[in-house]
Amino acid sequence: MASRLRFKVVDDAFKKRPVEVSVPKERPSDYFGKYVFDRKKMFKYLPAKVYAKMCDVIDNGAHFDLAIADAVAEGMKRWAMELGVTHYTHWFQPLTEGTAEKHDGFVEHDQKGGMVEEFEGKLLVQQEPDASSFPNGGIRSTFEARGYTAWDPTSPVFVIGDTLMIPTVFISYTGEALDYKVPLKKSLNAVDKAATAVCQYFYPDVKKVVSNLGWEQEYFLVDESLFSARPDLVMTGRTLMGHDSAKNQQMDDHYFGSIPERVENFMRDIEIQALELGIPCKTRHNEVAPNQFELAPIFEEMNLAIDHNMLMMSIMKRVARKHGFRCLLHEKPFKGINGSGKHNNWSLSTDTGILLHSPGKTPLDNLRFVTFIVETLKAVYDHNGLLKAAIISATNAHRLGANEAPPAIISSFLGRTVSDLLDHVEQMDETENLKVKGKSMLNLDIPSIPHLLIDNTDRNRTSPFAFTGNRFEFRAIGSQANCASAMLALNSAVAEALINFKERVDKQIAEGVEKEAAIIKILKEDIRYTKPVRFDGNGYSDEWKAEAARRGLDCETSCPLMIDTYLDERTVRMFETTNVMTRTELEARNEIKWETYTKKIQIEARIFGDLCMNHIIPVVTKYQSVLIDNVHKLKEIFPAEQAAKISANNLNIIEQISEHESFIVENVAKLIDTRREANRIESEREKAIAYHDLVAPFLESIRYHVDKLEQIVDDELWPLPKYRELLFII
Ligand code: ADP
Ligand code: MG
Repeated sequence: MASRLRFKVVDDAFKKRPVEVSVPKERPSDYFGKYVFDRKKMFKYLPAKVYAKMCDVIDNGAHFDLAIADAVAEGMKRWAMELGVTHYTHWFQPLTEGTAEKHDGFVEHDQKGGMVEEFEGKLLVQQEPDASSFPNGGIRSTFEARGYTAWDPTSPVFVIGDTLMIPTVFISYTGEALDYKVPLKKSLNAVDKAATAVCQYFYPDVKKVVSNLGWEQEYFLVDESLFSARPDLVMTGRTLMGHDSAKNQQMDDHYFGSIPERVENFMRDIEIQALELGIPCKTRHNEVAPNQFELAPIFEEMNLAIDHNMLMMSIMKRVARKHGFRCLLHEKPFKGINGSGKHNNWSLSTDTGILLHSPGKTPLDNLRFVTFIVETLKAVYDHNGLLKAAIISATNAHRLGANEAPPAIISSFLGRTVSDLLDHVEQMDETENLKVKGKSMLNLDIPSIPHLLIDNTDRNRTSPFAFTGNRFEFRAIGSQANCASAMLALNSAVAEALINFKERVDKQIAEGVEKEAAIIKILKEDIRYTKPVRFDGNGYSDEWKAEAARRGLDCETSCPLMIDTYLDERTVRMFETTNVMTRTELEARNEIKWETYTKKIQIEARIFGDLCMNHIIPVVTKYQSVLIDNVHKLKEIFPAEQAAKISANNLNIIEQISEHESFIVENVAKLIDTRREANRIESEREKAIAYHDLVAPFLESIRYHVDKLEQIVDDELWPLPKYRELLFII
C-alpha cells in the first residue's frame, strides 16, 4: 500500500526521544572562542613583533606584510595541532548559497623517507581553486580557468573537527570578484571613508567608522523521517504540494511559547558549538509558525558577522541531523503559514559610539544623529529598487509581497519621535543665530531624544526598513541568503549619499556659510527630498501599493525584472564611484542571478511533475477504482433506484477525482512542454523571464488540484506526509 512509508515515518517520528546533549561544565564565558585563533592565541603563539603587525592589520586596515606570513602560519599550525588538527582549508563564499572548502593535509615529505607536518605562509595567504567549477557569469574565459582565494586576515581562522578553516576572498585570474566577500569589504571601506569624513564635521578626531550587523536567523525544524518521505523537501527545500492543516498559526500559540524539549536540546547544542567558534549567541525563541524558531547573536563588525552567519547556517544544518531533525532554511517551506527571513540590524559606529544613537548630550550630537538618519534615508530612497534586487531570489520571492513578510516595496519607518524630529529640522531657520559669550553662534535648536524613548516607539512590523532605536532593521533578507548581498548594496548606497552630502556642505562652506548652517541647509533639502520613502502605515495594504507607485518607488514584482536594477545607469554609477563593483562584475553577477533563478524553478518543475505523475495520480486512480467497484457492487445487491441513491456520494467523488485528475495530467504535460520551450532560449535573462511568467504559474495552478485531492482521497492511501504531520510532530 502506498501509504505504508508515510505511516512508518510518522510512527518513527513519534518515537524519537530528545537526544542527550553533553553540556560543558564551564560557563559560556570560559569556552567562548575556544576554537578561534583570536588575539589571546595570537599573542601566545606569534612572536611579539608579528603579533603587533597582525593587530595593525586587523585594527587599522594596514597592509599584510608577506614577510610575516611564515611566522603567522607556523603559529596557527602549532595552535591547531594542539587541538588535534591535521588539515587546513581556504573557506570562501562563492556566488552560490553556501560556502566552499577543499581540505589539504599539513603533511609533506621530509626528504628522508618520512613525513613532517608543515604549513607555509604562502599556503595560508593564497590558493588556486578552479574558478570554472563555481558560478562566474562568463568572467572566466575557458582558456584561463584559474581563480584565486586569498586570506582575509580581518576574520580569524578557526577549527572545525580536524580542519583549520581560513576565511578567504575568491577572485578571478583577471582580478574580478567571484564571491560576496570582495565587494562586501570594498563597501565597508567605502562607507568607512565617506562616514569618517562626515563625522569629522562633528568630531574632528574620528579616524574610522565601522559597519555593524546583528542578524536574526529564522528557521524550521522538521523530523528527519518525515522530511525524507517528502521528495520535494529533500530536493527543493520546500513543499510543492500539501493542504493547510486544520490548525496552523491562527491561535498564535507558538510564538514565544515554551520550547519543546527535543528542540531545546538542539538549540543548546548549536549554541555551545557556536560559542566555541566565537559566535556570540544570545537569543532563542519560538517563531510565529508551528515548528518555526529564531536564533540571534549579539551584533558584530559586519565582515565577521557575515562569516559567522554563514558558519551558523552550516552548524544548524549539521547539528539538526544529529538530533533527528532537518533544519529548513528555505524562505517558504510551507504554503499558508509564515516563511522565514533574516532581519539585518545595521548601524555605523566610531570607537566612541554608535552614529545612529541619539545620546542628546550636545546639540552637535543631535545634529550628527539627524545627519546619519537622513543620509541613510537618502540612500534607501535613491536605491530602493536596488535594495529590493539585493534581497530577491527565486525562494525569497515566495515571501515578499505575500501577507506576512515585508512587502515588495522598500520604504522606511522611523517612528513618531524621529519623524517629528525630522519635521522640526525641516522647519528650522538656519540663519537664526544665538549670542554665546559675545560670539555669534548658530541656534542649534534640535530637540534631543532620550534613548529609551526611541527604543519604545511602536514598532511597525510591516516595514521592510525600520529604525529601531540605534539601528536600522532591514527585514526583507531571505533566511538562507548570504547577508552580504543586501549589506554591500546598503553600505555602498549610504557611502554615495554621504559623499554627495559632504560635497554639497563643503560647497556651502566655501561660499562662506557657517558649517552648522550649511549642514542644516543641506539636511533640510534632503529631508524634503526623501519624504516619498518614509512610510509609517500598513505596508501590506493595497492602498500602499497604489500610493507607492504614485510616489515613484519601485513596485516591480517579477524576480528576473527586479534584478535588472543592478544594471541601471544609476546603480552602475553608484557601485563604480564607490569603487565596490565594476560594470563587468555587475553584468557577470546578473547572468548568475538569472541562471540561478531558472535552475531553481526548473528543479521544482521537474520534481513537481514527478510527484504528480508517479505519486499522486496512481494513488488517486487506485482510490477511484475502489469507489467504482463499490458502486458496481451496490447495484448488485440493491434495486436500481435504491442503489443510485446510496451511491450518490461515491459517484460525486468519482466525478470530482476525474476532474482534478484530468486537470493535473493535462497541465503537467503542458508544464513539460513550456519548460522545454523555455530551455531553448539563449539569453539567461529572457530564459528567467520565461520561467517566471510561463513555467512557475503551472506549479500554483496544478497544486490547487492536488491539494483538493488530498482532502478527498482516503487518508490511508495518501503517499506524502501531510502538513499536520510535518508541522506538529516534534
Ligand atoms: P528584536 O526585538 O528585533 O528581536 P533584539 O534585541 O533581539 O531585537 O536584537 C536584534 C539584533 O540587533 C541583535 O543581534 C542585536 O545585537 C542587534 N543590535 C542591537 N543594537 C544594534 C546596533 N546598534 N547595530 C546593529 N545591531 C544591533
Ligand atoms: Mg528584530
